[in-house]
Amino acid sequence: MTPDRSGMILDARAVSLNGSAPRCEHLDALLPVTPQSRTCRQCQTVREEWAGLLVCLTCGWVACSDDSPRRHALAHYEETDHPVASALPPGPARRWCYVHGRAV
Ligand SMILES: [Zn+2]
Ligand SMILES: [Zn+2]
Ligand SMILES: [Zn+2]
Repeated sequence: MTPDRSGMILDARAVSLNGSAPRCEHLDALLPVTPQSRTCRQCQTVREEWAGLLVCLTCGWVACSDDSPRRHALAHYEETDHPVASALPPGPARRWCYVHGRAV
């Protein structure tokens, strides 16, 4: 018994940039999102500085990157299980999958 996958649709956006790495299937579920802000709102609330920003590619939530003191993007993943974030401004080689723990 093998499941019939012939109807599966693959999104061209999800093509891996790194041909040698296994593809990240989490990219398949993503739809275009609009960043909800240009700042980390949680850091602004407590007047914290951030090193960089990430935008959640599931919901558009913007939070500070993992090299920032508060790591709100990581906290967003832990709260929501939204797997992939992109650096802001977005670039094709700057996406990070938290589940796989690597750039995708
Ligand atoms: Zn992944
Ligand atoms: Zn933050
Ligand atoms: Zn999210």
